[in-house]
Amino acid sequence: MATFFPMEQMVVVGAGPVGMTVAALCAEQGVTPILVERRMERPEGSRAIGVTPASLEIFGRIGLDTAMLERGVMVRAAYVHNAYRKLGRLGFSEISGRHPYILVLPQADTEELLLRYLKEHGIVVHEGWTVENLSEADKAQESVRIGLRRTGGGVLEGTHSVSSDTAELHSEYVVCADGFRGGLAAQLGLASPPRYMPYHFVMGDFHDRSSLGADAHLWFTSSGAVESFPLPAGRRRWIAQLSTGLSKKISKDLSREPIDNLATLEHLVYERSGFTLHSEDCSWRSTFQPVRRIAAAAAVGRCFLAGDALHAMSPIGGQGMNSGIADAELLSELLSSLLRVSNAAVSSKAAHCSTSGERILSLEQARKVYSRARVRSGSSAASRAGIGTHIGSLRGRIGSGLRSTLIQAALNSPLQKHLASHFAMRTIPYRRAMHVLSGSTVSET
Ligand SMILES: Cc1cc2nc3c(=O)[nH]c(=O)nc-3n(C[C@H](O)[C@H](O)[C@H](O)COP(=O)(O)OP(=O)(O)OC[C@H]3O[C@@H](n4cnc5c(N)ncnc54)[C@H](O)[C@@H]3O)c2cc1C
Repeated sequence: MATFFPMEQMVVVGAGPVGMTVAALCAEQGVTPILVERRMERPEGSRAIGVTPASLEIFGRIGLDTAMLERGVMVRAAYVHNAYRKLGRLGFSEISGRHPYILVLPQADTEELLLRYLKEHGIVVHEGWTVENLSEADKAQESVRIGLRRTGGGVLEGTHSVSSDTAELHSEYVVCADGFRGGLAAQLGLASPPRYMPYHFVMGDFHDRSSLGADAHLWFTSSGAVESFPLPAGRRRWIAQLSTGLSKKISKDLSREPIDNLATLEHLVYERSGFTLHSEDCSWRSTFQPVRRIAAAAAVGRCFLAGDALHAMSPIGGQGMNSGIADAELLSELLSSLLRVSNAAVSSKAAHCSTSGERILSLEQARKVYSRARVRSGSSAASRAGIGTHIGSLRGRIGSGLRSTLIQAALNSPLQKHLASHFAMRTIPYRRAMHVLSGSTVSET
């Protein structure tokens, strides 16, 4: 059946932080994508809370950094303790760039600001529609056919509607930012199996009665870890690693119900840090088991993966969303560049010279560049997150003693400065399209 409606230039699947950042950065470069999101409501809770200096710089390009800084808390230092004493301090004030701190801002706030930006720039988010399948729309492979099913949304304007509950879009490019559970990477043949780590964590956001202020504090003890981070509006996040017995129980039962998360969290925090939490202060709680999954490649045909769809990693260390924001930056620049060239060709200008004189990439080159850069960065961040999780989760007196000695030595030596850049993700391989388009070599920030 023929398509009677105009073809989209770019469809972004998933209006999580990464999908919305791709769309916002594209809008800034003159491309107007549409977003498709299966949910009707924003998810509850704060999930990612750490925004790194590099992500703040990226958000700065669309002017969102100011609002983020107004809402968030700047963390300038993290203190590490064992069960008996403080082992050292990790200060972020000497890391390079305009933002020598980690900004703590709940993911819900980041998403709210992005959504507002998209609305202000006329970018439509079609909520309540699930992308069910992607396929080549034509033999020349010049567009992608996107099959949608209604999961609560209204009429999808501009679609070739097959029936009221299904719809079809055609687009030159598709960004799959459908998260860890989205499934489009598997459909595109890019998924690899997830590897779960043998630890479970319980976490909650509380009204802050501690005297810990705007610093982060980590306790690594022989029975497990506790981490604590300031949140805006006088709240604080507490995360505790479950003890071996509880971890086994949760793995066996799969349902998290048998464990009273809040009582468990309160008990573990008190036992390991000495701080008392009050159930009535808790505004949100959750459990998680860290997982690693890196896609085999980041792009196939005209479809590109970004965010957790491309690289899922342990939330310990706070690198997941930040890695996705860096994907969004490179991808938006590459796709905008490809679209500028195809628009120039359509308006019968010379397809070989762009107005800005930038180097022109083919689709195949863009796929290669993006895949190589972002699979490498995602793997690097996931390995760091994994190593950090293993070290922090090490139990038993011998392992714990060794860890304390090493941490104390590292944090009280010149290595401290490097570790601060490491945790701020300043040492993750990173590449902007301008390096690619100008033909310069990979830059590491
Ligand atoms: C407890 C916890 C703490 C964390 N802390 C941090 C932190 O401090 N720092 C950090 O950087 N990261 C952190 N993370 C990770 C961070 O939350 C994720 O990396 C981030 O949400 C990934 O964003 P995303 O946009 O790729 O995916 P998601 O946020 O999962 O968004 C994907 C979106 O796609 C939609 N979708 C899925 N499939 C379809 C479909 N077929 N059609 C249409 N829509 C679809 C979903 O409904 C969803 O809205 C944490 C994670 C957890 C669980």
